[in-house]
Amino acid sequence: MYRDYRDYKQTSYIRGLTLMRRTSRKQPSFALRRRRQQLLRQLPPLERLLRGSLIERYKPCGKPGCKCAHGPGHGPKYYLSVSYSGRRPQMDYVPQEYHAQITEYLAHHRQVREILEEICEINRELLRRREAL
Ligand SMILES: [Zn+2]
Repeated sequence: MYRDYRDYKQTSYIRGLTLMRRTSRKQPSFALRRRRQQLLRQLPPLERLLRGSLIERYKPCGKPGCKCAHGPGHGPKYYLSVSYSGRRPQMDYVPQEYHAQITEYLAHHRQVREILEEICEINRELLRRREAL
């Protein structure tokens, strides 16, 4: 049995981000620049990053009479799945004691991506206005 965290942990971690994307074209340029500075300050520590998703797995052990035969199996066991273009995703076992940290590192990666995306949107808007970037 697999469960992929990608789908339901994809919500925005940065307050106001989604709203900002929609309204950036109406903001005065000084507000956009201020927002850009704010975003930089929200960057998580850049050494604490992991790309990929956490996969949860349950496995039956196969021992006769074990209760797992009638359930999903033993687990959860966690794997870090990392995709590469043109290759199959790579899976690494995540020991339980790493689970919280790995979850955090994955969240950091999403935050960084969101922040970079919004900074790029702001810069694109400044370009449209023919203003100093
Ligand atoms: Zn079992």
